Amino acid sequence: MTTLFGGIEAGGSKFICIVAGGPQDIRAETRFPTTNPDETLGKAIQFFREQASQYELAALGIASFGPLDLAPGSSTYGYITATPKAGWSHTDFSGKLSAALQLPAAIDTDVNAAALGEYLWGASQGLDPSVYFTIGTGIGGGAIINGQPLHGLLHPEMGHVRIPHDRQLDPYPGACVFHGDCFEGLASGFAMSAHWGQPAEQLPPDHPAWDLEANYIALAMVNQICVLSPKRIILGGGVMHHQELFPMIRRKVSVLLNNYVQSPVITEQMESYILPPGLGNRSGVLGAIALAQRKSHVT
Ligand code: ZN
Repeated sequence: MTTLFGGIEAGGSKFICIVAGGPQDIRAETRFPTTNPDETLGKAIQFFREQASQYELAALGIASFGPLDLAPGSSTYGYITATPKAGWSHTDFSGKLSAALQLPAAIDTDVNAAALGEYLWGASQGLDPSVYFTIGTGIGGGAIINGQPLHGLLHPEMGHVRIPHDRQLDPYPGACVFHGDCFEGLASGFAMSAHWGQPAEQLPPDHPAWDLEANYIALAMVNQICVLSPKRIILGGGVMHHQELFPMIRRKVSVLLNNYVQSPVITEQMESYILPPGLGNRSGVLGAIALAQRKSHVT
């Protein structure tokens, strides 16, 4: 009999909940908007309670927006910490769901989970280290190193790296409430919309916004390549639905590296080095299923 798991992708604007045994075996799915914690977590609990009459779940995996407390042994492990998202700061996420559903629960950042999903089943299968970025309303990045999502002092905040900002070329000051012109502040969907006065998806393909966007993403990816030496980089999120960005980013990464990183993957195989997600828009929620699988193996 297939072991089944619950998976939650908790985003700033919507929640996705699934029951699955793996990427080819999704039994149930629901989506609802992210409102306040009580209502939103209540809907997730209700969904999994309804499913419990039909399916026996072994564990729950949560791929969440952050920041999160992921320090083992911390009294607030699994909490959302100081988020700018109204009402969600200091919310006990995994503890509350685990108690309500009587299931072991694993939690990680949405992007670490997506990196794990892509590493197990998607476009970076077996490639370690590998990196996953979402470039959407916000920007975040996760990494798989030694087969595990990368943690540390807290967890990586790859969306907030500092990148060169030529204010002559681009006078927009940046949208990050903490840093102004960090990567997210310059290149998120929110920043593009604030900068150009219309949503990114409405900007025509020949709009100068796209070249600037590709520049910023390429600069941030060069930093990743120099720090983590990833074997593959996956770029997901709403802004990356503009597929023309991929060749622009690859070209700019090559130019910026200037033949310094001497691997045929960089010098000859760039088309298969920086890629869209293999799991489409399910990297995060399937990553949550992967977290749950791993949790059930250790408990
Ligand atoms: Zn920032």
